[in-house]
Amino acid sequence: MSPPLVAPEAEGCDPERRREQQERRLRRLVDRLLAADGLQAGRLREAGVSAGADVGLDDLHRLPHVTKQDFWDTYPFGLRTASASDVVCVHGTSGTLGRQTLVPYTSHDVEVWSEVMARALGGAGVTRQSLVHCAYGYGLFTGGLGFHHGVMRLGAAVLPVSSGGTDMQLRLMLDLGPDVLCCTPSYGIYLGESFRSTGITSDQLSLRVGLFGAEPWTEQMRVEIERLLGVRALNVYGLTEIIGPGVACESLDSEGLLNIAEDHFYPEVVGVDGEPVPDGESGELVFTTLTKTGLPLLRYRTGDIAALCGPVPGSARTLRRMSRVIGRADDMMIIRGVNVFPSEVEAVLLEDRRVAPHYMVIEDRRDSSRPELLVAVEPYDEGGDVPVLETDLAAALAERLGLSCVVRVLQPGTIPRATNGKARRVVRWSHGVAPLPGLE
Ligand code: ADP
Repeated sequence: MSPPLVAPEAEGCDPERRREQQERRLRRLVDRLLAADGLQAGRLREAGVSAGADVGLDDLHRLPHVTKQDFWDTYPFGLRTASASDVVCVHGTSGTLGRQTLVPYTSHDVEVWSEVMARALGGAGVTRQSLVHCAYGYGLFTGGLGFHHGVMRLGAAVLPVSSGGTDMQLRLMLDLGPDVLCCTPSYGIYLGESFRSTGITSDQLSLRVGLFGAEPWTEQMRVEIERLLGVRALNVYGLTEIIGPGVACESLDSEGLLNIAEDHFYPEVVGVDGEPVPDGESGELVFTTLTKTGLPLLRYRTGDIAALCGPVPGSARTLRRMSRVIGRADDMMIIRGVNVFPSEVEAVLLEDRRVAPHYMVIEDRRDSSRPELLVAVEPYDEGGDVPVLETDLAAALAERLGLSCVVRVLQPGTIPRATNGKARRVVRWSHGVAPLPGLE
């Protein structure tokens, strides 16, 4: 099914014309950064750029970039270019990597955000008749309010439930019959399992589609969510530094990849050497905010690993697409020389029907001369043969990862649930008590 485009002039634009528009916007962005005379202007001048007219999309990869460290170094608002009186709200990252990053938005930025989110929702088949149950956290985190703005822009109705309060979530779902659910995939699993435990099945819910994001998840997790909640589960990607959710989103017709709102957020993918890699090859996503005014960024290195791809051939949607994000560069563990992303572990675990969708990957460095990958899981049903399951999973992981690891099947309920948003999947253990009961 192909839902109609929400903004045909942007989503269905001829790619050549879009490129011209992106280039014009890039030049204006460079002019704005130079005029603001902050950290990014200094770097541009060092690179020999004294006006937007000096740059073009073809040589974007030669221009300086910005990282999360730059946000921390200039905390709280050193990268802001708008005047304080033009700022209408401030959001912050979830602080997954330890320290928070704050981002000021102008009313223009909120407009852009609403528009890209409205497009994302429209692509998922959300209509003006829809009721959207928004269980992303509201607050500094961009999840809740980002979806909220988009639903209202589209003209659908939003139920700003936020995360937590499972009984209330269930009651509202049964009483009001929303057709759309938005939350993190791990919270989606948590809700689905909580419903199941109270005897509610997916056919008692009226959900049709869900937009899940804000953390890495796999195809295997999608199957699990779709089964538990009876929805079509789509992937939505974004990050606070760039705008929040809505940077890219799967649509019903995007064939498993995410349409990038590239008229506002220009994507690049670079290798470890910082050089661009060809489409289809994974590397670090880099975004340039072509239109943002509160805190515009030239070449922000996201640390997220994904690949770029063109539009679906013949589709009315002409936006470039990206693969799902397989993880953050920082979450990658290097165990005895082998690179491991938690999402690869997830893919193996959830292929096995005996395993529940709760796991934790522990980088065990108590013996620094021989680091171990320790994988903690829970069984779907109690009463199975635990040693057999541990051996089978260790063998499947060894085959996929090329690394021997230790699997521990723990008591159901041992692994912390994402009751409030993003799941914590990776733990580093170098000394002290075990990160979970039942591990030693
Ligand atoms: P933090 O970096 O503190 O988690 P945010 O709350 O802004 O900050 O979250 C943005 C990050 O969340 C992204 O950089 C990415 O690592 C992750 N993320 C967001 N959406 C997805 C998604 N659909 N798939 C994988 N990872 C995602």
